[in-house]
Amino acid sequence: MTTTATTAPGTVRRATDPSPLLAAGELPQGQHFIAGQFRAGTSGETQAIVDPSTEAVICQVAQGTVEDADAAIQAAFDAKEAWGRTVPKHRSEILLAIADRLAENADLLARLEALNTGKAMMVAEDDVAGSIDSFRFMAGAVRATTSLAAGEYAENHLSVILREPLGVVGVVTPWNYPLLMAAWKIAPILAAGNTMVLKPSEQTPLTTLNFAELIADLLPAGVFNVVTGLGPVIGARLAEHPKVDMIALTGSVNSGRAVARAAAETVKRVHLELGGKAPVVIFADADLAAAAESLRAAGYWNSGQECGAGCRVLVHESVAERFSQLLVEQVGTLVVGEPTAGADVEMGPMISKAHFERVLGHLERAKAAGAKAALGGGALEGRGYFVAPTVLVDVPEGAACTQEEIFGPVVTVETFSSEEEAVTRANQVPYGLAASVWTLNPQLGHDMASRLDAGTVWVNSHLVLANEMPWSGFKSSGYGRDLSAYALDDYSRTKHVMHNKAR
Ligand code: NAD
Repeated sequence: MTTTATTAPGTVRRATDPSPLLAAGELPQGQHFIAGQFRAGTSGETQAIVDPSTEAVICQVAQGTVEDADAAIQAAFDAKEAWGRTVPKHRSEILLAIADRLAENADLLARLEALNTGKAMMVAEDDVAGSIDSFRFMAGAVRATTSLAAGEYAENHLSVILREPLGVVGVVTPWNYPLLMAAWKIAPILAAGNTMVLKPSEQTPLTTLNFAELIADLLPAGVFNVVTGLGPVIGARLAEHPKVDMIALTGSVNSGRAVARAAAETVKRVHLELGGKAPVVIFADADLAAAAESLRAAGYWNSGQECGAGCRVLVHESVAERFSQLLVEQVGTLVVGEPTAGADVEMGPMISKAHFERVLGHLERAKAAGAKAALGGGALEGRGYFVAPTVLVDVPEGAACTQEEIFGPVVTVETFSSEEEAVTRANQVPYGLAASVWTLNPQLGHDMASRLDAGTVWVNSHLVLANEMPWSGFKSSGYGRDLSAYALDDYSRTKHVMHNKAR
């Protein structure tokens, strides 16, 4: 590897057990899943899938074409009428069966996810557990939907609201939580009675393909389809195709913009879960030790490749030094390593060489702007795309590292002197996905929660999610809700039927 050696204190824990994460025969087929069958792509071209902790090629996966996408869309289109007519109880039972199937294969899914993303086993296991619970939650929620009361709102006319599926939904997912982000879409989309075509990230298709294999016998052919390949090819086709009724993307702001532009031509619905740059506002009265301990997880979980990561600390100037010390102490204990290097490994590598270099570029620019690495600050030596857990202090106001999504194990610490300044600066980024406020004053906590421009605000916590509660962004973080009954609404349409009952 050509990267300069690290100045960070940490090292990467390497696997001592020579047995690989996957046994022979456990890899999924690297083909599209269309109309209930695995199919080779029309082009015959493939893409190499790389293990980011070792840089070894794991396997090859089909590089989809527009023809492949069209075949999957047609399959979903052909299946939509029959699936859309099924009753909620029927779909609920299938979702529960999918949850059970995932649970039976949880260990394989976690190992596959760890292999493809390099993430720590504890993160991969958490992803799988969250995915299973998404299906269980939606299986219940779809049987308990509510709507405006039917009744006579215009004289002699009875109004009834029908909740209907949209039809075919196109889905594009990112590489940071491949299975979890897929589950967050698949569960409500199928629960609401839609059929779908999913394009996983070209870097991390393995758990999505394995999911298709695992549930193939549980769903009618064509209800769920997967096409692997590039965003500007397959994702763009899903966004523009007239037989796709809605496009849902989790990814970067640029991809969200591209999808929304392409969808405009057919005026299809768009659901976007995009990037974030979550502020963590710490007041002088906060429990600083609790905040530092929470950020040890919230800033570095999944190596900081997390859209809700608490990555931008704004701490009151009177406690900034003490807090920075506590944070460095906490973060300095993180165990970085390959996924096979032990159950206590907490942090893995960046997803790819390109992303690794991008994160290092951010760090170089931050240092050039005057920020100081109180911990980490560079790459970790050896194979794989490992970056040291990093805490940047003395960060000048407005520095790029406080405004742009780094998407790595990097937390910046800035200071503020007044509440007004804290609010202004916390909201001074284009993103609005998540934020947290730390104070022991409940009134201040409530007030800050209402003033922070983010779809999720934690008070004295960060990055705790619940499947019952919505996850969605404001501003450039997108629109559309994942999780909760709100997601079911987003993937449904409401129809007003009015009966003239005059006699
Ligand atoms: P990305 O935008 O590069 O890719 C996401 C997906 O979009 C991939 O499948 C990619 O192939 C596809 N894509 C790329 N260009 C496209 C185009 N022109 N048309 C259609 N599809 C296209 O994002 P990424 O690097 O895979 O993921 C990281 C990003 O995702 C970060 O910005 C992160 O914040 C965001 N994210 C957001 C959430 C959330 O819930 N808001 C969750 C996870 C990740």
